[in-house]
Amino acid sequence: MHAVTVITFALVIPSAFAGPWANICSTQPANRVRGCDSKGCGGYTNERGSQMHQGVDVICKDGSIVYSPFTGNIDRKVKPYGNRNAIDNGIQLSGSGHCIKMFHIKPFKSRGPIKKGQRLGVMLPMQKVYPGITSHVHIQNCDLTDPTHYF
Ligand SMILES: [Zn+2]
Repeated sequence: MHAVTVITFALVIPSAFAGPWANICSTQPANRVRGCDSKGCGGYTNERGSQMHQGVDVICKDGSIVYSPFTGNIDRKVKPYGNRNAIDNGIQLSGSGHCIKMFHIKPFKSRGPIKKGQRLGVMLPMQKVYPGITSHVHIQNCDLTDPTHYF
């Protein structure tokens, strides 16, 4: 049944991904990578000033519910900036052969088991910090390899 659902999405939205991970954002029918906007681009290794973007930005409106992409364990909270701004929150999630960090979300819990597709947190108000940006959850592999094909 699940495979049929994935194929249906692929036909309706050809540019969307159809990898093994669950849809992560309640206001998006499928995971989609942020393209380029006035603040930058959301793909893996896109330029970030003098650095490279070490993850993938998955489009998600502020206030959306964010779901777990796979079954695993929330290891801990992680702060992407450490500056306590409105989007300085996230988690590390591991299991099912993966270890990722998800940024810009307020998690419902900061540790413990979670199932694929289960409610994990809420997308934080990115527009308050970066007005006009395409709001997104930043996802990076713990080893900083390319996670794109999992979406
Ligand atoms: Zn990012």
